[in-house]
Amino acid sequence: MEERRPDLASARDRLVERLRREITDESVLEAMGRVPRHVFVPGDLRHLAYEDRPLPLREGQTISQPFIVALMTQAVRLGKHEAVLEVGTGSGYQAAILAELAGFVHTVERLSSLAKRAEEALASLSYHNVEVHVAGPSLGWEGAAPYDAIVVTAAAPYVPETLLRQLKPGGRIIIPVGSRQEQQLMVATKHGDQIHRQELISCRFVPLVGAEAWTADP
Ligand code: SAH
Repeated sequence: MEERRPDLASARDRLVERLRREITDESVLEAMGRVPRHVFVPGDLRHLAYEDRPLPLREGQTISQPFIVALMTQAVRLGKHEAVLEVGTGSGYQAAILAELAGFVHTVERLSSLAKRAEEALASLSYHNVEVHVAGPSLGWEGAAPYDAIVVTAAAPYVPETLLRQLKPGGRIIIPVGSRQEQQLMVATKHGDQIHRQELISCRFVPLVGAEAWTADP
């Protein structure tokens, strides 16, 4: 698919060059250069796929800005044999970036229609190290825990205890924490029953819905 769209491939190269100003991890930049974001965005927005901006998905959800995807990926410092959980599959794009760098990715999505589309997009690109799950009543994906890293791509009011329990000792979690309107992107490392946290930047994500988070409608 890629080779037939040289215009999109060169737009992607330009995006990676722009990201290089702020993202220093070469393996993350290479992953951003390999994954065709246009496969994950709705058909009528494909021409915008390599702009550094978030784009609307169906069901009122959002595919994050490429810079934020790269920053979150860089901040969790993935090893190539590590197991990662993503909470908030959305389009599946962030999951594909994680799959480029980690051993295995479990990604969980609350809305089954989005989970299905994401699964199809990931399969069309032959990612065999990603499993898409439809969320159950509790947060995360207990079935494959514990994880080396957890990437939460929806905004939470605080770092949910249930997710910390799904993290290995020394594991990293990145999560936007704050109000429904505005959050700080927080990266934390689990040490025993404590976490060491660091705030990266202000951001704005769609809300995490359900247990330990918000109701669907404010
Ligand atoms: N990472 C995505 C963007 C995610 S948008 C991408 O690369 O495209 C946030 C997603 O989180 C939405 O699709 C929303 O439905 C989902 N979500 C919200 N609450 C959730 C929960 N408790 N568990 C799983 N997914 C959730």
